[in-house]
Amino acid sequence: MSTTPEAKVPGRAPSFRARLRARARLGAIIRQRCPRCLRGRVFRPGPWWGLSMYAACPECRVIYGRENGYFTGAMLVSYALGVPLLGLLYVPIALISGWTVEWVLLAAGLYFLAFVPALFRYSRVIWMHFDRVVDAGPESERYAPPRRLKTTEVVPSDNAGR
Ligand SMILES: [Zn+2]
Repeated sequence: MSTTPEAKVPGRAPSFRARLRARARLGAIIRQRCPRCLRGRVFRPGPWWGLSMYAACPECRVIYGRENGYFTGAMLVSYALGVPLLGLLYVPIALISGWTVEWVLLAAGLYFLAFVPALFRYSRVIWMHFDRVVDAGPESERYAPPRRLKTTEVVPSDNAGR
């Protein structure tokens, strides 16, 4: 007979801490933050259409791409978000305009372009968070070296009295 903790409490509601963690993660996804520390930015500050991403978290230094081709998974998320979005744009245009399918698709595609940067950003962020929830193993994480100090910053020296 199985004696795993899950087997003893079937259907138990998630604990308060688990719900708190889920809420913090959801907030981090919305604000496009690091999947590990939930604080560091994923994308560099800039205009809303900017797609420049940090290689590693500016806060905890975890490298965002866990392995080669890591963001291929984000393409699946992008597809899952993009197709319904295109549908949402298609329906009102078709109802209002009365155009043929080709013209409605063309118009919906043009409106869709405005959402591409957000789609790109959120598909990567959602993918990273999903991957780290499913495979939380810290042994598969890599870390960037600490940030280099700017030349104007003073480094306290431990051999000052030499
Ligand atoms: Zn981080």
